[in-house]
Amino acid sequence: MMLPQATKYAIIGAGIHGLSTAYHLAQMLKATGKGSGADILVVDKTAIAAGASGIACGVVRNNYFQPAMRELMAHSVDVWESDAKTYSYHPVGYMQISPECMREDVGSIYEQQKAIGYESVFIEGAGASAKYMQGLFDDWQAQGITSVLHEKRGGYANNKASMHGLAAKAEAEGVRILSGVEVKSFEFGSNSGAVTALNTNHGRIDCETVVVGVGPWVNKIWNLLELPKEITVKANGVVRPDVPMWKFWCLEEGTLGVDPEMHRTNDGRFPPVLHVDTDAPLYSDRDGKLITDKLWGIYYKPDFSFGGVQGGASPYKVDQDPDQVAIDPYGPDSPEFVVGEDFIDMWCSALAHCQKRFQGQMPLYKREENSGGLGCFTPDNFPVFDVFRENVYVIADSNHGYKMIGVGKLVAQELMGEKSALLEPFRFARFAKGELHPTSHSPFPWS
Ligand SMILES: Cc1cc2nc3c(=O)[nH]c(=O)nc-3n(C[C@H](O)[C@H](O)[C@H](O)COP(=O)(O)OP(=O)(O)OC[C@H]3O[C@@H](n4cnc5c(N)ncnc54)[C@H](O)[C@@H]3O)c2cc1C
Repeated sequence: MMLPQATKYAIIGAGIHGLSTAYHLAQMLKATGKGSGADILVVDKTAIAAGASGIACGVVRNNYFQPAMRELMAHSVDVWESDAKTYSYHPVGYMQISPECMREDVGSIYEQQKAIGYESVFIEGAGASAKYMQGLFDDWQAQGITSVLHEKRGGYANNKASMHGLAAKAEAEGVRILSGVEVKSFEFGSNSGAVTALNTNHGRIDCETVVVGVGPWVNKIWNLLELPKEITVKANGVVRPDVPMWKFWCLEEGTLGVDPEMHRTNDGRFPPVLHVDTDAPLYSDRDGKLITDKLWGIYYKPDFSFGGVQGGASPYKVDQDPDQVAIDPYGPDSPEFVVGEDFIDMWCSALAHCQKRFQGQMPLYKREENSGGLGCFTPDNFPVFDVFRENVYVIADSNHGYKMIGVGKLVAQELMGEKSALLEPFRFARFAKGELHPTSHSPFPWS
């Protein structure tokens, strides 16, 4: 492999963030006459879409309880819509269907969506919610629902296809993307902490600016950058000096191998992505046993690229020292972090709880295809977008990231010298300052 000896911009990771940054930065360099895509090198230890972006469910939504997240997502939805074909994006909309304990939170999301001009409809009350849902699906039967937020924008995109579309756009701008190049260590300046070179399995590359978009591998790169393993976090007036910077959760997703055509709305359209949270007891569709009487949640959509109805449920915490978590082999290839029988029973039963058409379909679950995968999270479960060691821009999205195709555009703007107000609430200093994002009543760490 011919590895360049130097590059102005070295981007580590060919997932959504690395590729989006590369593409938008190339465009901005050209537009301002300051350079071109030829100044940018993307390296990936495996290949394009080898990380979380290549296995993500691909849901694109605005529904966030945190105002800063909502504004950021609205910006990203604009980017998805700007080239839906190349990004393999399906703008079917998104629905958050919730129980009483979440009604107020979701109501405030609706109010703030109105304020930022993001089109949505909010239905309140058990009867009105059931009527709205049955107007879309005549077999709707979920219990314990007292509100429905229907976002008219958003939807989902096909994970690998969108990454290859984005990579092709970056390459068309002159960006080089090298697969099989793993960053093993950094060289730092003698008079500053800045990174001056990457040492890879294929040799050394001098660089002026580094962008890190390594998804679940962020803890490893963080360690190579010699950044702190434990940080100070101020929350609710209490200061804790020793909070681990990174923790892992395992995301549980799967596919029911039905014909995706069977999941259409009453008027024959492909439906919005559905996210249902409820505190109604959930019974197994296999043997009638109680699965849970606590708050539970699932999401699902018909998806031809997965070959069925695909979706997921709440993740579980990986209770291990982050340095010891086996990230590789990643995703479906992992012997440890893929879904098991409990997930299959829970998710398929939850589908049947929501819609009669899924009753008795559990045998069609695609057991032959492993699914699910690790995500690496920050102390407050929200992203960090910030510069470390003077010239290293770290994009650590805390697993909200597939939908955030616009973040790379904003990062590119910042690399060009223009600060982004949308990224400001996600700086690292927020932990010590106690400027954390508010938490909701959702059972998911990313809502
Ligand atoms: C099962 C699952 C489902 C998800 N579903 C959704 C969803 O529906 N919607 C949503 O918004 N988000 C979703 N997410 C989260 C989302 O996928 C991630 O937040 C996002 O894809 C992270 O993108 P990234 O570019 O930072 O990293 P990744 O896509 O993980 O890419 C990182 C790349 O860096 C490379 N790399 C790592 N270390 C090195 C190194 N040392 N040298 C060179 N290369 C390196 C890897 O090979 C990899 O290709 C999901 C995550 C999972 C696991």
